[in-house]
Amino acid sequence: MKLEDYRYLKKHFKDIQENVPLAPYTTFKIGGPADLFYEAREMDKLIELIELAKSLNISYVVIGNGSNILVADSGFRGLVIKNSCRNFEIKDNLIVAESGASLPQILHEAAGQGIGQNIWVLANIPGTIGGAVYGNAGSILNNQMVSIGDFLVKAKILAADGNINEVDRDYFDFSYRSSKLKQNQETVLQVILADSKGESTEILKMIDFDKRQRMGKYPAYPFAGSFFKNPPHSRAGELIEQCGLKGQRVGEAMVSEKHANYIVNLGKAKAVDVLELARMIKKRVKEKFGVELQEEIQYLGVNE
Ligand SMILES: Cc1cc2nc3c(=O)[nH]c(=O)nc-3n(C[C@H](O)[C@H](O)[C@H](O)COP(=O)(O)OP(=O)(O)OC[C@H]3O[C@@H](n4cnc5c(N)ncnc54)[C@H](O)[C@@H]3O)c2cc1C
Repeated sequence: MKLEDYRYLKKHFKDIQENVPLAPYTTFKIGGPADLFYEAREMDKLIELIELAKSLNISYVVIGNGSNILVADSGFRGLVIKNSCRNFEIKDNLIVAESGASLPQILHEAAGQGIGQNIWVLANIPGTIGGAVYGNAGSILNNQMVSIGDFLVKAKILAADGNINEVDRDYFDFSYRSSKLKQNQETVLQVILADSKGESTEILKMIDFDKRQRMGKYPAYPFAGSFFKNPPHSRAGELIEQCGLKGQRVGEAMVSEKHANYIVNLGKAKAVDVLELARMIKKRVKEKFGVELQEEIQYLGVNE
């Protein structure tokens, strides 16, 4: 980046920091520094900074809670914007939330108001609404996949041309752990979700039960949720387990003994360790089952 561009950015955004380690901003606790880092607490600032980065030709990425990303050891060459725009309100059966709002926080609060007959099943996914929409985060309820896209009524996005567009569910082309946002570089700004009402105490009880079930399955080490998507008609974790890979290590990255679709950071794992382990898993699963696993996790700064 040119020095004059950096000075220009710094003049407009005094709180931009340089050379910020990203590991603490991820649940994996892995990854090197971002050249530039900014925590956006106001939507206007988030939008202004993205537009400025575009006009200066600076690569940028918006992150939420970092619960679905692996950052390269070399970090990210460009600007990382952490979205901490967390305002939300609940009206009737609608949830209107800024994209940096925490999914668990919103859905607990909604449940407290009796909203969430179905959406409660997403209440323990530890990300932001924006991150959830990006990857169409979901969970199983009564043997069926329930995903954030099922509840999305409208959203505001910052489009590639700099316009703020109001779009509906169809716009996102939601499918299993995927949305159109994975193809374009648009940013979710605000989301409106709807779900039917129920008995508050019942919904809260189900959330709590789900939380305890999840805690029992989670490893004791940092990780970033399921590493691979489930292939059609099978489960990634089962395929990996059947290859005998539970406990397999590369450096301090390990296939969790608790769940084979979790790669854990035993403490000092490097992104290269995780990537090597992921390559090994994909190769073994391909050889044994002829199945090509695809990452659910998003790579940041990684040259594949
Ligand atoms: C313990 C644990 C349990 C989990 N359980 C589940 C589960 O049950 N189901 C499930 O689906 N996932 C699960 N995950 C994965 C993760 O929590 C979800 O994918 C979550 O939706 C990611 O949100 P985030 O804010 O952390 O996104 P981040 O990890 O910060 O970002 C993920 C991607 O979204 C993009 N992004 C973030 N915000 C925006 C925005 N506003 N606009 C556009 N793009 C954006 C980022 O650029 C990045 O590419 C789990 C993870 C952990 C650690």
